[in-house]
Amino acid sequence: MSRLAILEQSPARRPLAPLAISAETAESADPGGETRLIDSFGRRLTYLRVSVTDRCNLRCTYCLPEDAEFPFGDRAFLSPAEIETIVGALARLGIRRVRLTGGEPLVRRDLPEIVRRVKALPGIENLALSTNGIGLARLAPELKAAGLDRVNVSMDSLDPERFREITRRGNLAEVWEGVEAALAAGLEPVKLNAVLLADGGDGDAERLAALTLDRPLHVRFIELMGTASNQHLQPERYLSCDAVRARLESRFGPLAPFDSGPRTGPAKAFQFAGAPGSVGFITPLSHTFCAECNRLRLTARGELRLCLFADRVYPLRPLLATPDPDAALESEILRVLQEKPAEHMLTQGNYGNLVSFMQIGG
Ligand code: SAM
Repeated sequence: MSRLAILEQSPARRPLAPLAISAETAESADPGGETRLIDSFGRRLTYLRVSVTDRCNLRCTYCLPEDAEFPFGDRAFLSPAEIETIVGALARLGIRRVRLTGGEPLVRRDLPEIVRRVKALPGIENLALSTNGIGLARLAPELKAAGLDRVNVSMDSLDPERFREITRRGNLAEVWEGVEAALAAGLEPVKLNAVLLADGGDGDAERLAALTLDRPLHVRFIELMGTASNQHLQPERYLSCDAVRARLESRFGPLAPFDSGPRTGPAKAFQFAGAPGSVGFITPLSHTFCAECNRLRLTARGELRLCLFADRVYPLRPLLATPDPDAALESEILRVLQEKPAEHMLTQGNYGNLVSFMQIGG
């Protein structure tokens, strides 16, 4: 058996060790400084992911399995003004960086307005977007003008047929045009998110990593995560970041740590010698993912989610109808924050109530 085959057959699936959250790890996740959002484990929360819709124009096989129940609910998504009020309260408490996600955020026609309102909020230093890139070619300049700072585009393969197979309907050329448009509009750094899939066979990861050798693109490899609807798919499709890193280094040479300023997310980033881009690895099953967690999530219908794999959410929308919504939001957020769990229970097979990433955007 080749070295490669051996590597791929031994995914690094370490059991979770008991979580130890030190002040240091919590500190390193808080480049923004002051925040009143400190949970019961001392983690400082400065990063918010806002889902603006749970609808998507793709049907990625690992995200929404054939038998998953969809849609997840009605279309009563938060309006731009409601998003502004809720994110405003979170910004006053200490959120500094926001990512708009979905579903697919570009399916919302009012996305530029959402961008404008969120970016204008005092305290918001950086606004990013996660998208599948469909429509980005057209919208990139408008989103940039509205205040968007950067984008992550999901791209699991550079092979057009395989791309269509994975997404069930996507056109790689169209998405690639979106990537070029994002670079041209200055929505940088442009990151490409790739979920690692064992059935991808040869070359997906290699081809994506090769992009970083001559373009300022930043590929982030993400280990496949189970959800309530797809856990049965996970064992056959799972491919570890460790296995892929070994493959990439044997092909392109050693990866050196890539320093793009204070670490703000779960990816560990590296660079090949002389490359303008970088490659990063997101390993949700490792427990540093939780120990360094600096994030909160807002669902498209206005609920606060404290952990991607939590089994409950906290509705904030009703507070918008109270006499003093700002004060009500702040006190409710500070109260429920203390319930943020120490870690997810993925390795114990507990996926919380998350049916698909489409519901909340990862
Ligand atoms: N539509 C946007 C996009 O494509 O980036 C935002 C939502 S999408 C659900 C966010 C990310 O979650 C994508 O990069 C997608 O590949 C990833 N994702 C979906 N299901 C996943 C799973 N089971 N494990 C790991 N990542 C997943």
